[in-house]
Amino acid sequence: MISVSFHGVRGSTPCHGPDTHHFGGNTSCVSLRALGQLPVVFDLGTGLRYFGKQCGDTGAFRAVCLLTHLHYDHTLGLPFFQPLLRSDTTFEIYAPKQPDGRSIRELFLEKIKPPMFPVPLDDFAARVIFHEIGDDDFAIGDMQIRSRFVPHIGPTLGFRVTHAGASVTYLSDHQQPAGPEFTLSQGARELCERTDLLIHDAQYTDEEFVEKSTWGHSTYSYAKWVAETCGVQQLALFHHDPSRTDAALTELANQVGGGTKIGVFAAREGETVDVVTCNA
Ligand SMILES: [Zn+2]
Ligand SMILES: [Zn+2]
Repeated sequence: MISVSFHGVRGSTPCHGPDTHHFGGNTSCVSLRALGQLPVVFDLGTGLRYFGKQCGDTGAFRAVCLLTHLHYDHTLGLPFFQPLLRSDTTFEIYAPKQPDGRSIRELFLEKIKPPMFPVPLDDFAARVIFHEIGDDDFAIGDMQIRSRFVPHIGPTLGFRVTHAGASVTYLSDHQQPAGPEFTLSQGARELCERTDLLIHDAQYTDEEFVEKSTWGHSTYSYAKWVAETCGVQQLALFHHDPSRTDAALTELANQVGGGTKIGVFAAREGETVDVVTCNA
C-alpha cells in the first residue's frame, strides 16, 4: 500500500480566499509513504511547507523529492521546508537534466540567494543532494521509480512509483495535443498504463483551452481520456487553475466522473488516499 497525501494541488500560483478554501490554495506538492521506505515527495511547491510541518524535529531526517520541472509553482516551497534547518537532514532531489548542460544545483543556487531570497541555499544546515535524470528506471529502497519526459514547456518529467504491486503516477504538468485528436506520447503511456492512481493535470475546461492551447496544460476531458485509454483505477484531477472556485471544481469533478468506471476525484489539500493495487 502507498499512502498519498496532497499538500498543494494548485497550478501556476498560490491562491487564497473563501471560494478556494475547500480544495486549498497551495501549489504542487504530494507525498508518498510506504511501509519501511523513505518518504517520497512529488514537487516542491508551496504545499511543501505543510509536509515539512508533519516531519517532526527529532531524529535524523531523510527524504527524497521527485521534481517534475523547475517552474516556480513546483519549486517555491524549498526554502520554506522546515527540515532544511537541521544538520541531520538529508534531502535528495531527482530533477530533469537540462538541455543546456547547466546543473540543477547551480540553477537552484541562483534562485535561492540574495537579493531574491535572504539566505543562500548553501547556508542551510541540511545536506541537499541533487541527481539529474531523464528517461530512467531506478530504485529508491524497495520503491521502483520510472521517470519519463512528457510534453510541457521546458524539460519536464512525469513519474510512476511502484511499491508492493501498487502504483502511483504523477503527471502534474502535461501539454495536451493542440489538435482535436487526442494522442499520448510513448513516455506518458509508459507512466500511465494500468496504474492504480493517476494524478493528472486538469487545469482547463474545453472552452478555456481554445485560448490557452499552448500554455502547457490539459483539460478535464483529456485527463479523463488518458485515464480511460490507459486503464487506470483512480484519477485525481490536479494542478487546479488558481481561478477555479470550490463550487466549479466540485461540479467539474462530478461531470468527469459521470459515465466511467474510473474513480474520479478532485485532489484536495490535506487529504490522504491509500492506494492498493487492483491491476495485479
Ligand atoms: Zn505547474
Ligand atoms: Zn510548469
